[in-house]
Amino acid sequence: MLEVDLHVHTMFSHCGLHTVLEILKHAEKIGLKGVAITDHGLTLGGRLNSVFYERFQCPYPSVTLFKGIECNIVDGSGTVDMSSELLPFMDIVLLGIHHNIAKGLGKKVYTEMLVKAVEMNQFVDIISHPNDPSFPVDYRELAAAAKKKGIALEINNSKLIYARTDSDSFEELLLACKEVECGIVINSDTHAIHELGMNELVLPLLEKVNFPEKLIVNRTLETTNEFVKQRKILKTSIKGI
Ligand SMILES: [Zn+2]
Ligand SMILES: [Zn+2]
Repeated sequence: MLEVDLHVHTMFSHCGLHTVLEILKHAEKIGLKGVAITDHGLTLGGRLNSVFYERFQCPYPSVTLFKGIECNIVDGSGTVDMSSELLPFMDIVLLGIHHNIAKGLGKKVYTEMLVKAVEMNQFVDIISHPNDPSFPVDYRELAAAAKKKGIALEINNSKLIYARTDSDSFEELLLACKEVECGIVINSDTHAIHELGMNELVLPLLEKVNFPEKLIVNRTLETTNEFVKQRKILKTSIKGI
């Protein structure tokens, strides 16, 4: 099981089943030390509640709550659907390509889309599921661009549980990250509560490619806190925030 899970959906997403409190209570029960609530941005119908970001505090002292979002690529121009009012409250910003973007445009187009978004939006911390087969990307190119910006690429356990992605693409992604020394984050992408903290299917792949532990950003709560702290310094330096 993960020590810190940085990708979890709640009922603030159209595809989430549980409340924030149910997720946090379950995190406490299973001994998870940290959880990021990362509901979808507005393009995918996310209902980002400003009260959650501004006022809510985790009632379980053994669980560190990271407030976040999984925002979306809006088009090929590098635009993403991040709310600038909520940005100062964000501990973790995930960015992914989702079904609002047309399929079948080819690897070159999706790679350019993500690289441009990474370069234009320095508040992005993690690229979620970069090995989604619907939106193929050049892993080496993306990993190099992410490394330059201090961004981590996600290894998404759910994509393997539900056979959305084959294990070969995980190995290719891990090898690209290893080669350019780009950090990774292992996440559950929880939509149903029993998935919280799960990493069991991707762990053997990390072992298979002998992936360096030091590149796993969320290997402990301490390393995660350090990543979030450094990234927040960057976020608060963004003009106008
Ligand atoms: Zn996603
Ligand atoms: Zn997600």
